[in-house]
Parts: sequence; C-alpha cells; structure tokens
Amino acid sequence: MRIGVPKEIVSGERRVALVPEVVPALLRGGNTITVQKEAGLSAGFTDEAYRSAGAVIADSATGVYGAADMILKVQRPTPDEADKIAEGAVVVGLLQPSGDRALFERLAARRVIACSMELVPRTTRAQMMDALSSQSTVAGYKAVLLAANALPRFFPMLMTAAGTVRPAKVLVIGAGVAGLQVIATARRIGAVVEAFDTRPVVKEQVKSLGASFVELDVGDDEAQDAGGYAKELTDEHIRKEKELIHKHAVQADVIITTALVPGRRAPRLVTAETVRAMKPGSVIVDLAGEQGGNVELSVAGQTVVDSGVTIMSPLHISSELPYHASQMYARNVAAFVALLAPEGKLNLNMSDDIIAAVCVTAEGNVRYNPPGAR
Ligand code: NAD
Repeated sequence: MRIGVPKEIVSGERRVALVPEVVPALLRGGNTITVQKEAGLSAGFTDEAYRSAGAVIADSATGVYGAADMILKVQRPTPDEADKIAEGAVVVGLLQPSGDRALFERLAARRVIACSMELVPRTTRAQMMDALSSQSTVAGYKAVLLAANALPRFFPMLMTAAGTVRPAKVLVIGAGVAGLQVIATARRIGAVVEAFDTRPVVKEQVKSLGASFVELDVGDDEAQDAGGYAKELTDEHIRKEKELIHKHAVQADVIITTALVPGRRAPRLVTAETVRAMKPGSVIVDLAGEQGGNVELSVAGQTVVDSGVTIMSPLHISSELPYHASQMYARNVAAFVALLAPEGKLNLNMSDDIIAAVCVTAEGNVRYNPPGAR
C-alpha cells in the first residue's frame, strides 16, 4: 500500500497518526510511507526522524492525499479532506462513527473504505489495536494532572517543619480504563482515593491500585451486559447513585468522572446541588464531556467555577499529551494495518471480526449504525 499521513488540521489537535518508530515495520510489510511536512512536529516528531526511519516527506497535503491508497489520520476528515482521499482508497482514524452520516455517505459514494479505530472490538486478539484503551489511559493520567494543577492544596500528605499537611481526597466515578489510570496516577502523587463503578467486577482492580471501592448494589445483571460493558441504569438506581455520590462528594477535594455507557449519552451523576455542597476550592474534571457529561454544571470544552468549585470538561484531552498519545495510537494503527493489508496488499476480509467491526464504509455502502438506531 502507498500509505499517506497528513498533518491534522482540527483546531487543538496535536497528535499524529504515525510516529517514526512504527515506520520500519510498515515498510517491511511491503508499504511505502509519505508524511506531510511537519505532520508530527506538534507531537515532538521531526521530519528528519521520519526520513531517517525511511518515510518520504511531502510538502503539502495534496502531495500526501494524491499519492496514497491508504490515509492514516487521528481525527475524522473534514469534508474538504474527505474529498482529497482518492477514489477506492482506505482511510483509518478515530472517525467518530456516530456523527456526520452525510460525510460517510460521501465517502461510500466514492468507494472509500473508512475504518474507525473506536470500533475495534475489546477482545484479546484485538488488544494491540485498542485505540480507545490507549487514549483513555492518556486521558486518565492527564485529568489528574489538570486537577492537581487547579487545586489550591497539595495532593500528598506532607510532614514538614511547618506542621503536617493532610493528603487530598479524590473521588473517581467510573473505573474503566480511564478511571483506573486516574486512580493509579492520583495514588502515585499521594492522594487518598475512593472509586465508584456500577460494575461490581472492577472492585478488585480498584482495590489492587490502593483505592477504596464505594459500593452500590445494583445486581450484576442490571449493571453490565454479556460483553462486560456497563448498561444504562433504571431511574431508581440512578437516584440512589446520585445520593451516594453526594455523600462522598462533600468530603472530596477532587472528583474525576469517567462514567460511560456504550452508545448512550453519559449518565448525569453529579448534580448541581452536589457541586454546591462541596468545599470551595474543590475541583471536578468531567472526562465524559464529549458524550454529554457526568456533571450537571459542566460545559464541554470549558472550565466553569460555581460556588468556588472549579469544573473542567476538557475535549480531546489525549491531544494534550501528544507524544505518547501519538506513539500508542500509532502502534494501534500499525497493528490494524498489518491485519487489513498483510504484505502490503488490501485484504478486506469481512469474515474477520475485527475488520467487519471497524469498517464504517466499504463496497460503496455505509455499514455502521449507531447502537441506538439498531
Ligand atoms: P467506558 O469508557 O465505556 O466506561 C467507563 C466506566 O464507566 C465503565 O467502567 C463503566 O462500568 C462505568 N459506568 C457506566 N455507567 C456508570 C454509572 N452510572 N456509574 C458509575 N460508573 C458507570 O469503559 P471502558 O474503559 O471502555 O471499559 C469497558 C469494558 O471494556 C470493561 O468491561 C473492560 O474490562 C472492557 N475492556 C476490555 C478490553 C480488552 O479485552 N481488550 C480492553 C479495554 C476494556
């Protein structure tokens, strides 16, 4: 395949889809690689590093798109970018498949094969390609640093000549991949951490990271589906959960929320009343902002202060740690490319569960329907 890597153009996006480290393996796989000039610069990868790894540098986006039968991206292409993709080519990225149906129809009409890395199944075989997990790891880590930076107190306990400082209390809501990384990071810098999730199976993982687990008995069948993913709770369970969170929130210095239910709007778990009952100076980071937010007062993409509580809802947070976010994403993408185009030749094998899950468009059709629409 002739692989092309354009510079990302969405505002605030600092990641790049391919890093020099993975170039040699893709070349050995029988591909050629063209990278747009300065595509990796905002993530810390120079043109020289790509060149030394064996890639060719193109001066413009046109030089990349025009010569590629596979485009590797981070963000979903804009309509203008989509029109530059050659007819029948492949585009791989975090394509946000539930949005912009018109764009996917436009790609399908030109027989472009659009592969969305968010749709990689959470199976053992697909682990190396699991971009949701790699980017959630980055998001969880960075969320703790944002909170620590905004908090007017220390995270760790300190015993100093000026007396003892008590450690910060962090409450984590949702202990999936991002939440577990939040726990690990907050513990490393010395906070006392409590975590809450509706799936009882995560209790042991939470405890093994040194946090205590806040329990709400909703029953295994109510909490998760056969695949191990969280289910939407009943109104009664959500009401009980909000009460429980309120009780713990008023003791906390920091709350970091990561609760998501696949294909649904994020559950609203922290009410305005809870925020207003927290200590002034407390900080909330709502990592579910892109899916509607877990916190009633949070505004996606903004920081708001209400009753002395700072509420942040960062978007594309993984892009704020672009070096490692790009490195991990590029490894995920390279593993997927090796499956989709072994020995440099496209093998659109729809009987492979990973390829079948990831292809949003193929053979002229939009194949993906958002979960709610099934
Ligand atoms: P996610 O980002 O979809 O959700 C984050 C967390 O929010 C989940 O733990 C979920 O239980 C929790 N949540 C949902 N509703 C909630 C509520 N009302 N209150 C509190 N918490 C709530 O999750 P994820 O990190 O993508 O992981 C989800 C599943 O995928 C897990 O079963 C995980 O083990 C599995 N997984 C498997 C693999 C693999 O095998 N390759 C990799 C990663 C994740």
